[in-house]
Amino acid sequence: MRRLSSVLASIVVLSAFALPQSAPPKAPPVGGITVYAVEKGKAYHKKNCTLKSGSKGMTLAAAKKKGYKPCKVCKPPK
Ligand SMILES: [Zn+2]
Repeated sequence: MRRLSSVLASIVVLSAFALPQSAPPKAPPVGGITVYAVEKGKAYHKKNCTLKSGSKGMTLAAAKKKGYKPCKVCKPPK
C-alpha cells in the first residue's frame, strides 16, 4: 500500500493548492492539467480518450517530462 499512500499524499498536496482564495475556479494552470498515459506507452491522453485504458493520471508537465507525446486521436493540450 506504499504506492497508494504516496498517491494520497500528492492528492493532499494538490488539494492544498486547489483551494485558492481568489483565483477563478475554471482556469487551472497549464502544468496542473491532468492527462493520462500508459506506463509503457509513448503518448498521453485526455480523460475521455478511448486509447487511454490502463493508463494513469499525471499532470501535463509530468507527462512531458517523461517524454510522452500528445495523442493524435484525442489531441490533449501540449
Ligand atoms: Zn488519446
